[in-house]
Amino acid sequence: MAKYFGTNGVRGKFDMLTPELALELAKAIGTYFKRGRPENPAKILVARDGRLTGECLKHAVISGLASVGCSVVDLDYASAPTAEFMLKELGADGLIIITASHNPPEWNALKVVDGKGATISHERGEQIEKLIGKTGNAKWNEVKRSEGYIHSTTEHVNAIKRFLDKDKIRKRKPKLVLDCGNGMAALIAPRLFKELGCLVVLLNEEIDGRFPGRPSEPTEANVSVLKKAVQKEKADAGIAWDGDGDRVIFVDENGAFVVGDKVFALSVLLKLGEENGAVVTTVATSKAAEDIARENKARVVYTKIGAPYLSEKMLEISGLIGGEEVGGVIWPEISLAKDGFFTAAKIVEALSEKKLSEWIAELPKYFNEKTKIECNDEQKKRIIDGMKKYADNAKTRDPGLKTNSIDGIRIDFEDASWVIVRASGTEAYVRIFAEAKTLEKAKELVSEYKKIAEGFRGTD
Ligand code: MG
Repeated sequence: MAKYFGTNGVRGKFDMLTPELALELAKAIGTYFKRGRPENPAKILVARDGRLTGECLKHAVISGLASVGCSVVDLDYASAPTAEFMLKELGADGLIIITASHNPPEWNALKVVDGKGATISHERGEQIEKLIGKTGNAKWNEVKRSEGYIHSTTEHVNAIKRFLDKDKIRKRKPKLVLDCGNGMAALIAPRLFKELGCLVVLLNEEIDGRFPGRPSEPTEANVSVLKKAVQKEKADAGIAWDGDGDRVIFVDENGAFVVGDKVFALSVLLKLGEENGAVVTTVATSKAAEDIARENKARVVYTKIGAPYLSEKMLEISGLIGGEEVGGVIWPEISLAKDGFFTAAKIVEALSEKKLSEWIAELPKYFNEKTKIECNDEQKKRIIDGMKKYADNAKTRDPGLKTNSIDGIRIDFEDASWVIVRASGTEAYVRIFAEAKTLEKAKELVSEYKKIAEGFRGTD
């Protein structure tokens, strides 16, 4: 078990993710990326978001990387998808993004990406942690200066525009309300959509690491101002991103919230309308994407939950599009990052054909319900082991069931409903998530499987 690396990088508040730890981790990360090329220093990009601890941690990270002989390019402020896009552009061997994504402002994290664009998973993080304390320092005359690079947002915007039908967008001239959430979206979204010829109304467009406008996670409750603004402005859509800009949600022209799962399903529908290929997604994503893929004779490949597993699988099978239930979509023509700006732009491009609510009405309809059980690590293990046995027995009784244990236990029923029981990688919970054709059925499944799972928890 990795001590520091969770599902996606090293995450913590400032008393855990201190500059001292960031420096030690950066030395280990730099050494990990340097392996196999001892004479040639590894080139590592460093980016950060607007969190108050970001600059302080950035100096520690750059110092750690430089001390083991890496050559560092400092992108400074950049959205996560922008920084990941720059990997290939600058021919780098790795990237460290200092961002806690959608977490509250007192949190920060080091998210690590390799030179191919795959995010470092918990398992690869364990390899990096083995190097802590064993890296040593480079010779005094091998320590490089870090270089600044200020063109990354411009280059990312230009790349996104290359893959869009700009005339279509310009002719339609959609009116958009952009809620940048005081995060990295402020750096890129207003510019991108203005350059595409959209009419733009801005909310929370100042970068501020305290997130004064709204919490950085774009949940329905957190974007109530956006919903009202779309109606008041009579806009064609509202768009909101999380703190680092990899996730995006929409509000349709009537002010209705479009949940992340539907953003992914619509992205799959649009992409498969252009070309065929494999769709990669996690085992907790709505079946809507699978239904759309089946209609288009495309295959779906499922992964464990977490961005690293998605990007690894996309790379391995050259997937056409990848994504997850919270509204992060990977478009490999840009990079292997979940790119909330390209996703938003593709959906805005589609507004030239239909209204957003009409597109959403075309998607397969499912209802979701979720709950969680508080438990310690031992109880988590007992529940998951117990559920595995339970699923095996259920399958013997009813051969119509399909089960998989890619991540936790998922059981698929014949009426297209399914349930997953999964131990959280970062919190003291087992989560239960169900999807069905009716809300009633989804609720029923969640409460039934909560009871079954609790039966395996034990008392300690
Ligand atoms: Mg994020």
